Amino acid sequence: MENNLDFTYLDHNATTYVDPQVIDAMAPYWGVKFANPSSIYDISQDVRTDLDMARTKMLSLLGASNGKVVFTGGGSESDNLAIKGFVYANQKKGKHIITSTIEHHAVGHTCEFLIKQGFDVTYVPVTTQGVLDITAFKAALRPDTILVSIMAANNETGVIQPLSEIGRITKEKGIAFHTDAVQIGGKIPIEVDAWNVDLLTLSAHKFYGPKGIGCLYIRKGIRLQPQIHGGSQEFDLRAGTENTAAIIGMVKALALANGSMIEESKREQGLRDHLEAAIKRDIPEIIINGQGAPRLPNTLNVIMKYVEGEGMLLYLNMNKIYASSGSACTSGSLDPSHVLLAMGIPHEFAHGSLRFSFGKKNTDSDVKKVIALLPGIVRQLRSMSPLWPENS
Ligand SMILES: *Cc1c(COP(=O)(O)O)cnc(C)c1O
Repeated sequence: MENNLDFTYLDHNATTYVDPQVIDAMAPYWGVKFANPSSIYDISQDVRTDLDMARTKMLSLLGASNGKVVFTGGGSESDNLAIKGFVYANQKKGKHIITSTIEHHAVGHTCEFLIKQGFDVTYVPVTTQGVLDITAFKAALRPDTILVSIMAANNETGVIQPLSEIGRITKEKGIAFHTDAVQIGGKIPIEVDAWNVDLLTLSAHKFYGPKGIGCLYIRKGIRLQPQIHGGSQEFDLRAGTENTAAIIGMVKALALANGSMIEESKREQGLRDHLEAAIKRDIPEIIINGQGAPRLPNTLNVIMKYVEGEGMLLYLNMNKIYASSGSACTSGSLDPSHVLLAMGIPHEFAHGSLRFSFGKKNTDSDVKKVIALLPGIVRQLRSMSPLWPENS
């Protein structure tokens, strides 16, 4: 695709633009197909049929042979429905939840809330590469454990988690397994059956769909308590008139992304690897986070020791290069990334992280632009930094 942006956007793990083919697929549902799918006249039934087809298609895109898909208002809502919905409906069996130290706040803060409600949560640590510590995970399992929630890939580092290994264990023990798969949607294949996943969260705006729409896959036999009460939409699990255009757009976006996944991930990985190699070559005192672990092909998270991520972002911003430091959700706060701290990165270095996440419109000219500027930016910031050893 031609790059028609007059800036260099390298923050696709935060959000993506909407693919024009997705906009085209959605448009009729704001126009002639506006009818409420719950009404009984024929124009409503037509919309209902389209929705049912989209739902079935989504199941097959997720590699699911059974169960159902509930459409929600996004990834955060799906995480909340999965976790709160499951533990409230199943708390007679136990009140223990296992999660990790690197989850997105939509999972992490939901678990903190549940601790206040009387649930017990174990946060399993990760290795220095950012991968769930499987030995610690096994040791955390208890007779009263009812739910495991471990993300599929981390939004900051791109590190992919051992889902099939976790799923094998939870299935054997009869414990439900939820995964926040928001970051892998459209990037690597999703296989809920093969992984023994019971609940899976996705969000459309991370794979060229619209914002404010997500879904939750629910395996057959898994019971949830609804978190939004009202009408009987979405199998009585999520009340409210369906966001028909967004649902159609989400399924179209995932189908498109899956269709071009193999070549596109190879292409983006090429750009990522090019940038990574140049940073290693041109900038001393750096850490590539998650290096050596399986990583999403589009993500590069790097620490420039002795500088602040915010400073680098400001300079990049002046040159119309948009990246992030830590995650978008925590920028504005001065705390360093909880993900990097969990990987054992010291506080003073965790502040110096930059995340570049590539997408469909990026080309080698974007990489060249960053390579031409970044070493100079880091040198300049270090020359002013009291932390830089040469200055002390
Ligand atoms: C973006 C993101 C979310 C939140 O999704 P929204 O649709 O923005 O609510 C949740 N988990 C992960 C891993 C994410 O990257």
